[in-house]
Amino acid sequence: MKTFDIAIIGAGPAGIMAAITAAKQGRQVILLEKNEIIGRKILATGNGRCNLTNKNIDVSNYHGANPEFIKQILSAFDQYKVTEYFESLGVILKEENNGRIFPRTNQASSVVEALDYELKKLKVSVETKASVKNIHYEKNWLLSGQKTTGDFKIEAKNLILTTGGKASFQFGSSGDGLYWSEKLGHTIIFPHPALTPLETVESWPKNIQGLRIEGTVKLTADGKIISQSQGDILFTHFGLSGPAIMKQARNVGLLLPTKKIEVHIDAIPEETKKELDKKIETILNVNGAKEIKNALAGIIPVELIKTILINLAIDPEKKSSRISKLERVSVVGVLKNLTLTISKTRPFKEAQVTAGGVDAKEIDAKTLESKKIPHLFFAGEIIDVDGDSGGFNLQWAWSSGYLAGLSASK
Ligand SMILES: Cc1cc2nc3c(=O)[nH]c(=O)nc-3n(C[C@H](O)[C@H](O)[C@H](O)COP(=O)(O)OP(=O)(O)OC[C@H]3O[C@@H](n4cnc5c(N)ncnc54)[C@H](O)[C@@H]3O)c2cc1C
Repeated sequence: MKTFDIAIIGAGPAGIMAAITAAKQGRQVILLEKNEIIGRKILATGNGRCNLTNKNIDVSNYHGANPEFIKQILSAFDQYKVTEYFESLGVILKEENNGRIFPRTNQASSVVEALDYELKKLKVSVETKASVKNIHYEKNWLLSGQKTTGDFKIEAKNLILTTGGKASFQFGSSGDGLYWSEKLGHTIIFPHPALTPLETVESWPKNIQGLRIEGTVKLTADGKIISQSQGDILFTHFGLSGPAIMKQARNVGLLLPTKKIEVHIDAIPEETKKELDKKIETILNVNGAKEIKNALAGIIPVELIKTILINLAIDPEKKSSRISKLERVSVVGVLKNLTLTISKTRPFKEAQVTAGGVDAKEIDAKTLESKKIPHLFFAGEIIDVDGDSGGFNLQWAWSSGYLAGLSASK
């Protein structure tokens, strides 16, 4: 049996980058992937457009492991090196709002095709439809698994685990690497869905499903503010979605078993409560003959104002001139603090990323080698690091993949 210098399990962005980096160091590398193609999840990123990094990468956009650990790894192959690298492969990039970087083609396939070509050029042995079932260390790493053509065995001096977390497992990340790591003695920080929508106890969002507003979101646990975000909020048949909501999911998963979790939406954040009350008072005075739902349709979508009025037991068709001060103040109160109770996060299948994973305290930040098992390296989402939406997770995969590939080559 041929012995490879490095075996890498999982051809997602972290595994591909590790393989390319190690092959450039002259190492004999095998990259094993259970899907039919490499980079299956990359194709789904950024709604098929692949938001591959962000101009404003900052450690504050990451969660899980301690910031020093994250910083050290990001700096090994930062966003400038990533953009330079992809441009050198012929993938021309463009910047969109909030520093998000995409391929100019708006197609994630441009990224995967360029990486695929690079792997071939560097003569990495890429085995697709190769599902690894067991890993075992004696003098070297021994891997066994199944291909459609039958069982296989592989021997390698070093092993890099880039099997991802558990999020969107339909793309291959079913948690195998987490299971093996735990069996090898690593601590696994409770994996839970992050960047995923939230289900609410209240059923009224279903009545306005599809409606999108821009606002600020505060997450509270037993009344205490835990986190805040700003941006698009989408009402759905199960509750809430959109970037400003999904950003809150990692905290919900951690706190929900023991605490009452509420989301407080400020639907008109640009006005203070007092300013908004004054504005609405004027609108109602000027439009006294109009039904209140129509009078307020200029400042908030009519479907939402109708729902708010019904929840407050105010007839949406009541004439504006007949709205009492108490009723007006209660409408303003809800617009500034629309409160919903969270029942659960949507499942891993709908999550973009996994919070939790292999405990970073047991991984050397300089090399990404296990502090417990020599010749074992980690990269990507398998590690207890998750980023915000906006290109931060792929940047983590490129940076950590690069560092693991380089370290395993030494
Ligand atoms: C819908 C969606 C949209 C996203 N959009 C963005 C975005 O625009 N920007 C961004 O930064 N991030 C985005 N993300 C997050 C980002 O895609 C992930 O964080 C990133 O792909 C993680 O990379 P990884 O290499 O660690 O793991 P993965 O990409 O999950 O790859 C792991 C690979 O390992 C393989 N594997 C697992 N077990 C085995 C086994 N036993 N044998 C062989 N192979 C195995 C899997 O098949 C898989 O291909 C998105 C995620 C999703 C789901």
